[in-house]
Amino acid sequence: MTSLDDALALVRTVPDFPSAGVLFRDLNPLFASAPAFRAVIDEMAAQLPADVTVIAAVEARGFLLGAALAVTTGLSLIPIRKPGKLPAVADRVDYALEYGKATLELPADVLPAGAQVAVVDDVLATGGTVDATCQLVERAGATVSVVSVVLELGALGGRDRLAGRKLHTLQTI
Ligand code: IMP
Repeated sequence: MTSLDDALALVRTVPDFPSAGVLFRDLNPLFASAPAFRAVIDEMAAQLPADVTVIAAVEARGFLLGAALAVTTGLSLIPIRKPGKLPAVADRVDYALEYGKATLELPADVLPAGAQVAVVDDVLATGGTVDATCQLVERAGATVSVVSVVLELGALGGRDRLAGRKLHTLQTI
């Protein structure tokens, strides 16, 4: 059996991607190892609060984690999408990136008001992506029960953007 530490040790650090000076954490070797991926999903599932009813997974790597987590736990899955992908949009949030801006969209008619939601992504960096997702969830009348990520890049301060929402990370670096 692969331990969680062994699984997280597979994350590769790639210098100067996507731009000079950035240290990119590449989870692909972890996804490529079936026992490592299993260890990560099992731990994320074990950490989920008991009240969670819906997994909201952020495009794109959040989909990998969120889908596996939803099937493992029997919870429903909602993909939070980049613009131009959805045939019917309930709501959208524009947010600032370190350089530039981005938008995320909630699909229409899939998130019940009153749902208790786990927001799932691979990496928490500045927190803008997860914060935008939390806004979509909350504007729909649902509650963010927890934000669950594999890696938190602590120096980028994403935790501070979460405004008191509960955060679970498997590793902070
Ligand atoms: P944030 O909005 O600055 O917190 O950036 C988080 C988003 O960018 C997530 O959806 C991640 O998938 C992606 N991201 C940022 N930094 C990294 C990284 O080092 N590795 C993998 N994804 C990253």
